[in-house]
Amino acid sequence: FLPHLVASLEQVQQTYIMVKPDGVQRGLVGEIISRFERKGFKLIGLKLFQCPKELAEEHYKDLKAKPFYPKLIDYITSGPVVCMAWEGVGVVLSARKLIGSTDPLQAEPGTIRGDLAVQTGRNVVHGSDSPENGKRETALWFKEGELCQWTPAQAPWLQE
Ligand code: UDP
Ligand code: MG
Repeated sequence: FLPHLVASLEQVQQTYIMVKPDGVQRGLVGEIISRFERKGFKLIGLKLFQCPKELAEEHYKDLKAKPFYPKLIDYITSGPVVCMAWEGVGVVLSARKLIGSTDPLQAEPGTIRGDLAVQTGRNVVHGSDSPENGKRETALWFKEGELCQWTPAQAPWLQE
């Protein structure tokens, strides 16, 4: 499972996490945010946002040739999303593990998709798949002034 990410587990990374329109419509925003918050990662960006088509296309440009691409763009632009950037050591792989497999029926119980979704086309949440994409997607969805660098009070209780 994403072995290329294991090598980068020691680095401080950023990842782009998004509650997709189905997660917002189903009232799962707080539940999803709290999973990352409780884990101990640092929230550095957060907003509710109606995604324009051009941005959805740029975000998913690697999937342009896939048969599901047009429906994916319709899905992501079908209502507001919650955009988040999270920072921490090894956050990219860890967030993917918290999210679970792309197909919610294959996702393990205990993961967000495993607990809260049933279909790939409605899998409630996005997470970056590499440190490079974590940076790229964070920069794509957030303007510079929208990100906060801060030190959580709990920092010394999370890492010795
Ligand atoms: N997707 C879909 N049908 C598929 C594969 C993917 O509708 O057969 C959608 C789904 O919403 C998925 C997104 O496209 O989350 C991006 O696909 P990717 O393979 O990058 O999965 P992810 O990284 O989100 O797990
Ligand atoms: Mg992906």
